[in-house]
Amino acid sequence: MSRWVIAVDRDLCQGHGVCENEATGIFTVSKSGELTIVEESPPDARRPDVEQAVKYCPTHALKIVDLTDSP
Ligand code: SF4
Repeated sequence: MSRWVIAVDRDLCQGHGVCENEATGIFTVSKSGELTIVEESPPDARRPDVEQAVKYCPTHALKIVDLTDSP
């Protein structure tokens, strides 16, 4: 089960669309530059793609948040 989520700082995001290229299907960016996170909590198999998106986002607007199991 996926125990991580994607967080975006919308003040930083400038709609470059790098994330969409790195993790297709998880992010979409409209022509006007509006980012949508299609899957906020993707399956683990997509984590490498999301890590690439986080790494290459030119404004560092993305991060992966690992969730701790609740007691
Ligand atoms: S790559 Fe970064 S700045 Fe560009 S749309 Fe994605 S989150 Fe926004």
